[in-house]
Amino acid sequence: MNVLIIGSGAREHALAWKLSQSPYAQQIFVAPGNAGTDEFHTSCAIDIHNFDEVAKFVTDFNIMMVVVGPENTLVEGIHDYFQEKDFLRDVLVVGPKKLGAMLEGSKDFCKAFLQKNNIPTARYETFTEANYRDAVEYLRTHSYPVVLKADGLAAGKGVIIAQTFEEAIDSLEAMLRNHKFGKAGSKVVIEEYLQGIEVSVFILTDGKEYVLLPEAKDYKRIGEGDAGLNTGGMGAISPVPFADDVFMEKVRERVIEPTIRGMQADSLDYTGFLFIGLMNVNGDPYVIEYNVRLGDPETEAILPRIKSDLFELFLALHDHKLGDFKLDIDPRTAATVFLVSGGYPEGFDKGKEIAGLEQVNADTLVFHAGTKRVDDKIVNNGGRVIAVTGLGDTMEEALAKANKAAEAITWTDRYYRRDIGFDLKKQPMR
Ligand code: AMP
Repeated sequence: MNVLIIGSGAREHALAWKLSQSPYAQQIFVAPGNAGTDEFHTSCAIDIHNFDEVAKFVTDFNIMMVVVGPENTLVEGIHDYFQEKDFLRDVLVVGPKKLGAMLEGSKDFCKAFLQKNNIPTARYETFTEANYRDAVEYLRTHSYPVVLKADGLAAGKGVIIAQTFEEAIDSLEAMLRNHKFGKAGSKVVIEEYLQGIEVSVFILTDGKEYVLLPEAKDYKRIGEGDAGLNTGGMGAISPVPFADDVFMEKVRERVIEPTIRGMQADSLDYTGFLFIGLMNVNGDPYVIEYNVRLGDPETEAILPRIKSDLFELFLALHDHKLGDFKLDIDPRTAATVFLVSGGYPEGFDKGKEIAGLEQVNADTLVFHAGTKRVDDKIVNNGGRVIAVTGLGDTMEEALAKANKAAEAITWTDRYYRRDIGFDLKKQPMR
């Protein structure tokens, strides 16, 4: 079968790498792809937001499976589009339809879903410009810090943790009155701040049955010690030591199972990955967010730990046989370190030649993100540029491999965090 992967990040490179190990996969196309996906797969310059164009590509190249990486394509309804067209209906799409994608596309929808299904989450209220004064009153009596979230997709920038009332009002005004996030900020969720340590849990589900994938912890801040601005992600570790059997049993019982029941009750007709962002508050899981796709950089840490054939897993998803699927997981630890352009997540230069890729040992995986081939060179073409993943019997061993590769790959001003996993070192590994 020919496969089309939608997206251009390290997540999509990792999906292409993993799927290409399957005897079921013939040609793998990645749209739009990057310099890494060019190498063994076929990058294709199609506009992924123009579904007619995607459909033409799918029929022209006899594609039977479409795996959707980014959330906006799902929120825009790519799966619904395929379902509505007779000639595309047999194509297996990995990713939910528009309604299911609302779990990520609208924070208010997500919070209402969590509340309705009694899934532990922070207390909240939603406000619009019409009830701005009520929002101000709500903030006046709220405890601090408090969290303000733009309702819609805001490229990971729509969450503000305000330390004081004044800060909260500034953010509220920016979102509701000054339309800082455009339509995405026309509703604001204000919620209680949860104190704890985060973990990302992933399932693949057909809305009835599910397979639990390895969990991961990601590192969002640009600076060491989790300081500075939020980024798309600077690294990840899988497994997560505190996500032990006792914790994961709570996650299944209190979060995953009621989520699946809620999907059925609301006829979300969900098919695909669900990423559950959790806060571990004194050993109890609270949902911070759902993402309706795999995370990046978590994918680069969890796929290398899945020994089972990913293609077979996708076939089981579409045959509604996930309940029987025994996922084979590598017990070793995977550590991912992201190399980014100097200046990111603010301004940075593009077009710098990347050196040292050939010096990375064969035991370390290299996944490209913002890279581009120009003649015989590979140059940086975005903020997050390359993810490297090491596997080891201990986190230290995995990190040593990833850090060695990160050191070897260079370009002007490249930066990476040397402390990924720092907060897990004190915890016993499973
Ligand atoms: P989200 O886009 O909802 O994932 O939020 C981005 C980040 O903000 C999360 O990964 C958390 O680090 C933080 N965050 C979101 N909601 C809360 C909350 N209720 N309490 C504490 N931190 C939060």
